[in-house]
Amino acid sequence: MNVQIEKLLALQEQDLKIRAMKTRLETIPIETGKITAQIEADKANFAAQKEILMAEELEIKKVEASIKEKDEQIRKLQSQSSMIRKNDEYRSLMNEIEGIRKQIGDFETQQLVLMDKISENKSKIKDLEARLKAKEKQADEEIKDMHDIEAKINAEISRLKSEREKLSPGIDRIALKLYERLLAKGTGIPVAEVKDSICSNCHLKLTPHTANQARKDLIVQCDNCSHIIYFQ
Ligand SMILES: [Zn+2]
Repeated sequence: MNVQIEKLLALQEQDLKIRAMKTRLETIPIETGKITAQIEADKANFAAQKEILMAEELEIKKVEASIKEKDEQIRKLQSQSSMIRKNDEYRSLMNEIEGIRKQIGDFETQQLVLMDKISENKSKIKDLEARLKAKEKQADEEIKDMHDIEAKINAEISRLKSEREKLSPGIDRIALKLYERLLAKGTGIPVAEVKDSICSNCHLKLTPHTANQARKDLIVQCDNCSHIIYFQ
């Protein structure tokens, strides 16, 4: 094999590792972003549930105030009743009191419904809070793990880069420039092996002329994808 190709392959080995690690690094902020977004959504859901509870508690206070007010009205009317002498006036007063009692009954029904809702909501909130805390703890751990991975990958990339630096001297300048241009595309294998006259980068067949040139151990590019090709 062409010695230049051998050197390029050694360089490529490091560069493809670096590329894979950079690809992995790019996924980390996406993954941590997803975790954070999920926690934010859970927090918003929790806050919304709490607001519903607050509204219900406010509502029940209003209902209780109304009951108190109606009780007070009845007490006043009852104290007036002792001073009434006429039967029809007395009867109409009693009717009025009866009407107010019915209103109180309606308020008490509302009060019971609200009490049920509040108690149900309180246990729901308690449950949500516990789940949210557990999720937050888990999310913190996951994000911490990802930052650890990120640091390890960055350290590994630095190590591979310094190793790579030792490999480039001695490579033909033009071949190195071509290689680096192909690498910079970000996809595919810059230096691709030919098997059965097929380029392993683009998977297309080479012309017989190109295949012959490559067999002569020259720096040759694929007819189709222009990547550097070689025979093992
Ligand atoms: Zn090709």
